Amino acid sequence: MSEQLKLAACPFCGSCGGEIMDFRGHLGNRIQCGGCNVSTDTFLSYEEAHAAWNTRAATGYEEESERAS
Ligand SMILES: [Zn+2]
Repeated sequence: MSEQLKLAACPFCGSCGGEIMDFRGHLGNRIQCGGCNVSTDTFLSYEEAHAAWNTRAATGYEEESERAS
């Protein structure tokens, strides 16, 4: 087992199997969905980007449904 962090499914197209991509670099780290191209902000640490993605993924559905109604 690797120590790769788990990424939550995309909150916008998680059900369609969009590939979740992570971009890591010394200039910044972010997580992006290959399905709908939604991405996190760019963070200095990958862990922060990862946390932001999972937080967004966990709350995205609620925010979206509130906005739609
Ligand atoms: Zn997506």
